[in-house]
Amino acid sequence: MSARFDDILDVVRSIYGDGPIALHRPVFEGNEKRYLIDCIDSNFVSSVGARVIEFEQKVAAFTGAKHAVATVNGTAALHVALQLAGVERDSEVITQALTFIATCNAVAYCGAHAVFVDVDRETMSLSPDALRTFLSEYAVHRDGLCYNRKTWRRIAACLPMHTFGHPARIKEIIAVCDEYGISVVEDAAESLGSYRDGLHTGRFGKLATLSFNGNKVITTGAGGMILTDDSELAARAKHITTTAKVPHPFEFVHDETGYNYRLPNLNAALGCAQMERLDEFLRIKADIAARYEAFFDANGMHFVTSPAGAVSNYWLNALVLDSRAERDAFLQYSNQRGVMTRPIWRLMTQLEMYSGCQHDGLDNSRWLEDRVVNIPSSVPDNALPALNP
Ligand SMILES: *Cc1c(COP(=O)(O)O)cnc(C)c1O
Repeated sequence: MSARFDDILDVVRSIYGDGPIALHRPVFEGNEKRYLIDCIDSNFVSSVGARVIEFEQKVAAFTGAKHAVATVNGTAALHVALQLAGVERDSEVITQALTFIATCNAVAYCGAHAVFVDVDRETMSLSPDALRTFLSEYAVHRDGLCYNRKTWRRIAACLPMHTFGHPARIKEIIAVCDEYGISVVEDAAESLGSYRDGLHTGRFGKLATLSFNGNKVITTGAGGMILTDDSELAARAKHITTTAKVPHPFEFVHDETGYNYRLPNLNAALGCAQMERLDEFLRIKADIAARYEAFFDANGMHFVTSPAGAVSNYWLNALVLDSRAERDAFLQYSNQRGVMTRPIWRLMTQLEMYSGCQHDGLDNSRWLEDRVVNIPSSVPDNALPALNP
């Protein structure tokens, strides 16, 4: 078994060289320092500043979204997007148990309850089939709204997440939700640069969110974005992320309980420089994934690739091992040898605060939880041609 593990580490080292290898680290080889210094010199370091607007415009142009509203992090973006989608205290949000904790925490911040349905094995993301099965069993229509016959709470939204950048079958998810009058918010935190049927992830739901945490495809240190094509929702998003302050030359008037969730100009400066490299990052990530795929295919192992009809950004490369025992052995073996690898997340239902949430059988989620590991996925040092004069 360890002979095969050694072969895997050899492939990783053929991409990243010797020495300790991180799972996903940021690359700052462009205009990052220059824009940061300019930003400090301008004195506009907080949430008002030209770089915030520029960063929003760049992300909107890249994704094709009509509006992009920058936030302090992806979790805050999710919190506000859910609120704008109509998620209220004591309502419910259908999401996946196989996700990063932020997805689920954002539901809790709204005072709402998560309900977990299974994922597809191919995409590792919310399954429209599992969603349909769940709703056909539990959904009840009343006054145009959808209720859960088990809890009699309103099902306000569905929150699919595009796992590791592999797009969910989002059109089918939306078709099911449309039948039941449920809003869709896409957690596209991991899928900047991923497409389904030629459309960028996050363009399908009523609202979507991105993350620019330090380990994501591009980073602003910490940061997030709300995407929507709806001008009214975009204006509301900007308003409640900036303390709901009514514009006035000097008075402090706030017309509802807003949040201090606006992205600072300093972080946006970093984001503007990172956006200049995004196409290159994606191209290099696709090259790395192709190298992994060739190796794992030749060795009869299961490397996760773009689902049919989709283009993945290969944010985090994923390998499906044969069993939980093999997974655990590989994690030990690789981490002890300085190659950082990680298991996929524990299912949300395994965590104490979400263990009481309603869920379906989660068969694929459990299957993947036992077998999936992430292997190093950064853009390697000096892989980019120099951009600076
Ligand atoms: C990264 C991430 C987020 C947002 O995380 P922040 O650190 O708050 O930016 C949300 N959902 C998923 C699935 C993520 O991977």
